[in-house]
This record gives sequence, structure tokens and C-alpha cells, in this order.
Amino acid sequence: MSYIEPAPIKDKDNPLESMMQRFDKAVDLLGISEEMYYILKVPRKQVTVGLPVTMDSGEIRTFEGYRVIHSTILGPSKGGIRFDPDVNLDEVRALAAWMTWKCAVVDIPYGGAKGGVACNPREMSPGEIERLMRAYTTALLDVFGPDQDIPAPDMGTGPREMAWLMDEYSKSKGMTIPAVVTGKPLVLGGSLGRTEATGRGVMVSALAGMEKLRINPYRATAAVQGFGNVGSHAALLLRERGTAIHAISDISGAYYNDKGIDVADAIAYRDANKGSLEGYVKAELISGDDLFTLPVDVLVPAAKEDVITRKNVSSIQARMIVEGANGPTSAKADDIINEKGIMVVPDILANAGGVTVSYFEWVQNRIGYKWTLERINRRTDRIMKDAFDKVYETSLKYKVSLRIAAYIVAIDKVASTYKYRGGF
Ligand code: NAD
Repeated sequence: MSYIEPAPIKDKDNPLESMMQRFDKAVDLLGISEEMYYILKVPRKQVTVGLPVTMDSGEIRTFEGYRVIHSTILGPSKGGIRFDPDVNLDEVRALAAWMTWKCAVVDIPYGGAKGGVACNPREMSPGEIERLMRAYTTALLDVFGPDQDIPAPDMGTGPREMAWLMDEYSKSKGMTIPAVVTGKPLVLGGSLGRTEATGRGVMVSALAGMEKLRINPYRATAAVQGFGNVGSHAALLLRERGTAIHAISDISGAYYNDKGIDVADAIAYRDANKGSLEGYVKAELISGDDLFTLPVDVLVPAAKEDVITRKNVSSIQARMIVEGANGPTSAKADDIINEKGIMVVPDILANAGGVTVSYFEWVQNRIGYKWTLERINRRTDRIMKDAFDKVYETSLKYKVSLRIAAYIVAIDKVASTYKYRGGF
């Protein structure tokens, strides 16, 4: 079965292309018809907008922005907005599909979407970014909506930009509508627990995997690549559950201590050191590549895509990989990982804690009530654990890796919803 449209991503080693390859494999195993294959693959809507913005110099610059709605069959579409010079329609299309599968795997009632503007926010003033965000919102007023399409932050955007989006959208409707966007500041209806949600989901996935492999978390060891939002929270929460963190890393290098790193101390050091672990002396400095080869039980890639490849996969000693980052493992490494018997909890499952708490933010906005952190954590844990169990059972049923099982769960859910709704 092959895709008749031009392939959205040209580079075969690209993480998004890797995602498409796994999608194809799962579709084949499920025996999905060719008609359904194209229904699932082709986005429902893709919008390109030109955004003239007055810069501080008085010059008017026109930016190109995109919003792709991959699917709305399970509910309104959900996905972040990326501000980055490399943003293009092909990338946004693939990322939108990725969101569909992620939401379906954790069984939250959303379709997938993604948006972006080709711009360099690092070279723009706050005023210029605000005018760009407001222009993007205005251009997409008929696309966004709490029951239609709900954006969120992604690379290059954060709570500040989501506040501007909410304000612009609300003004256009003549009323305050917080549920149009998630990832807002707390005072505007953001949710407790959102900051640590992705790391929390990684921790829950890691513990669920350890249970299957009969690894006692109190005797287990882990190495975590990336010490930003996802990596540092995952490391802290795993440590709190007894697992010794033998190595952490960021862009400055990797830090190793076979007695275990005091994660709270490392976070405090990073926060006092302009966000970097550089110069952290309570652990030995090793290379970022060496972190992957350590004899630990659990490896958590939580930095960037395509870090586990055919080149380094043979030297991995961990028994389990829990993917905090999106697309950290290339499709070509999958077979070797499976041969080595390493369990991989895949990105679309392991890092779905973030979108789960975004969903909770939307629910709270809609009912006009704030949940406690305790309730949010409890519900996140349950959703993550249920999703893990379902994927695990599917992997046994089809005799496939957890990664392919996660795609099977997601694709089956979306495809069967189409069948029930009918009306093509
Ligand atoms: P972040 O910017 O907060 O942190 C990234 C960390 O990775 C930093 O510590 C950085 O120094 C480090 N890093 C970058 N390049 C590195 C390298 N070559 N070697 C070692 N460390 C390196 O980002 P984040 O929000 O933690 O996101 C990390 C990954 O998780 C990304 O793939 C992101 O798409 C994915 N993700 C994030 C969320 C979320 O809620 N933040 C949700 C789902 C997926």
C-alpha cells in the first residue's frame, strides 16, 4: 500500500518520516482498507495565512503561518503553535498527524492539529511577537474554537503567547473564552500540574514498564538525557519513587554519579546557573554519547529527536527506554532494539501526560471550576496507566513492540470511530 500524495517529509531518516513508517506498519497489521488508509492519512484541513506585522522600526513584514487540522473525528482538534524559522507546511502536516495518534492512545476526546509561523522569535521584540500572535489569531478566527480547534504552546511559544491568543479570540466574540486555548498562565485559567505533567507521565510509564520487567524501582537505576521541562521532572519524580538517577545531561554535557544524583540539588543548581548544568561538580562530567551506553535499567531520552540511531543502538545496555522526547529513536534502530529485547515505551504514549493535562485545563475552563493538584495528578496517573496497559495487551495480542502496539491502538480507535459515524 503506498501513499499517492507527495510524501510530506523528504528525508527518510527524519523523525517524522520515521513516525509515518511505523504508521504504515500498524495499518498493515490491522488490515485497514485502502480507502480508510487515505482517510486516516490525508489532513482534513490545511490553512496558510499571510500575516503583515508592523515591526518596531515601522517597517511592515509579512510572515507566513499555517494551521493543519489532521483529524476531528474523535473531537475538536488539539495541537501546539510553533514559532521557528524552519516551520513549513509539510512539517506541520506531519506533526498534526502525530497529535491525532497521541490523543487517541491516551483516549482523550481530541483530534490532532498543529500550527506554526515561520519567524525567529529570538530576534523579535515582545511587542513584535505580540502583534504577530494577534495577527495569527485573527487570521484563524474561523478555525479556532473551544469546540473546533484548540491550540497550545509548542517550540518558541509559551503561556504569554497563549494569553494573547485567548485575549484576541475573546475580544472578537465579545466574551471571555478561556477554553479556546490551553497552556495559559494560571491566572487566566491555566491548570495546576501542567508544567510537570509530561515528566509525570514519563515516570508513570517507566514504573508500569518496570513492573512488567519485574524491576524493583527501589533497586533500579536510570539515566536521563535532557534536563529541561520533561527530563528534570521525570528524573525528580523517578527519584521520589526510589530509582537512583545515575546520569543526567543537557546541552553542556552529561553528569554521572554511580552513587546517584541528588536531582533536587541539580535542579536548584541549574535554576541558579542560567538554566544550565555546566560546572555541576557533584557528578563526573562525561560525554553526551556516553550517557547512552551506561549500564542502567532505564534510559530516558528527553531532549530532542533522532538521538538513538543505528549508530549507537548496539551499545545501549538499558533494559528499558522511555521516550520523553518526540521521535528520539529512528525507525532504523527499531529492529535492533527489538532483537536486543529492550522494552521501549514510545513517545506517543510516554510523553502524552502533557496533552492529558491540557485536556484537563480545557475541561476545567468549560465547567468553570478549578481542580486541586492532587485530583489532577491522580487522574493523569490513571489515564497514563490505563493507556500503558492497553498498549501492553495489544503488543501481546499482535506480538509486536509497544511502539507498533501504540499505533495499532490509536489507528484502530480512529478508524472504528469513522466506521460508526459513517456518512462518507
Ligand atoms: P526544554 O527546552 O525544556 O529542555 C530541553 C533540554 O534538552 C535542555 O536541558 C537542553 O539543554 C537539552 N538538550 C538539548 N540538546 C541536547 C543534546 N544534544 N544533548 C543533551 N541535552 C540536550 O524542552 P522540553 O519541553 O523538556 O522538551 C524535551 C522534548 O520533549 C522535546 O522533544 C519535546 O518535543 C518533547 N515534549 C515536550 C513536552 C512538554 O510538555 N514540554 C510534551 C511532549 C513532548
